[in-house]
Amino acid sequence: MKIMVGIKRVVDYAVKIRVKGDKTGVVTENVKMSMNPFCEIALEEALRLRESGLASEVVAVSVGPSKCLDTLRTALAMGADRGIHVHSTSSLFPLSVAKILTHLVLFEKPSLLFLGKQAIDDDCNQTGQIIAGLLNWPQATFASKVLLHKDKQVVTVDREVDDGIETLSLNLPAVITTDLRLNQPRYATLPNIMKAKSKPVNKFTLEEFNLQIKSDLEILQVTEPPKRKPGVLVASVDDLIHKLKHDANVI
Ligand code: AMP
Repeated sequence: MKIMVGIKRVVDYAVKIRVKGDKTGVVTENVKMSMNPFCEIALEEALRLRESGLASEVVAVSVGPSKCLDTLRTALAMGADRGIHVHSTSSLFPLSVAKILTHLVLFEKPSLLFLGKQAIDDDCNQTGQIIAGLLNWPQATFASKVLLHKDKQVVTVDREVDDGIETLSLNLPAVITTDLRLNQPRYATLPNIMKAKSKPVNKFTLEEFNLQIKSDLEILQVTEPPKRKPGVLVASVDDLIHKLKHDANVI
C-alpha cells in the first residue's frame, strides 16, 4: 500500500515575518525556509504506518521552486522512500496545487493522501478539501488520531472539532489532513541525512502535466498587523481596577 504526502516549503515558523516594501507579499530572500510543520506531522504519520507494516511505500511530493528539493531531501531524511518535485516559480493558490496533486494521485494511485491541515504561510486550509472534491474521495480533516485497519480497506480518524472529538470511518482511498496533536515528528539523524542524498526524486515541470493552471485569485496587498500599543504601568491595584472599569482602551 502506497501513501503520498504533500510537503510545502514555507518560511520557518520561528522567523519574524517582514512585509515587502511594495506590499506585494512577505520577504523570503535570505530567510530560513523549512517544511511546513503540519506537513511534518503528515509525513510522520505516514512513516509510522509504514513502520507498522501497514504501508509499503511513502512518497513525498512538493510543488514549487527548485529550493523545494531541499525540503524534499529533509522528507527523505526523515524516512520517505522517494520524492516527487513539480517545478513552478509562480505563486500557486490551493486550487492550482490541488489540481497538480490530483494529477499525481491519478498517476501514482496511493491508497492514502496525507496533507497538513494548513500551510502556515497562507493559512488557507483548503488544499486537502479541494483534492478530495476533485477525486471524489472521502476526507477527514484535522486528524488527531489515525487507525488503519488491518484489511487496509478502512481507516478510522478522530477529528478535533469545537465540541470535542469526532470519529469518522473512511473507505480507502482517502484524503487525511493532519492536526497538531496527531504525533510528534521525528528529527532527521545525520546518517539518514546522508542516506537521503541517494534516494530517488522524480522531477517534473508544470508544462509536462498539460493542466489548466490559472489563478482565479489575486493578492491585492499584504500589510503588517497594527503595532501593539505600549503598556501602561499602574501604581496600585486600585488604579488597575479603576482603569479596567473606566478606560475602554485597556481591554
Ligand atoms: P493550504 O491549503 O495551503 O493551507 O495547505 C494545506 C496542505 O496542502 C499543506 O500542509 C500541504 O500538505 C499541502 N500543500 C499545499 N501547498 C503545497 C505545495 N506547494 N506542495 C505540496 N503540498 C502542498
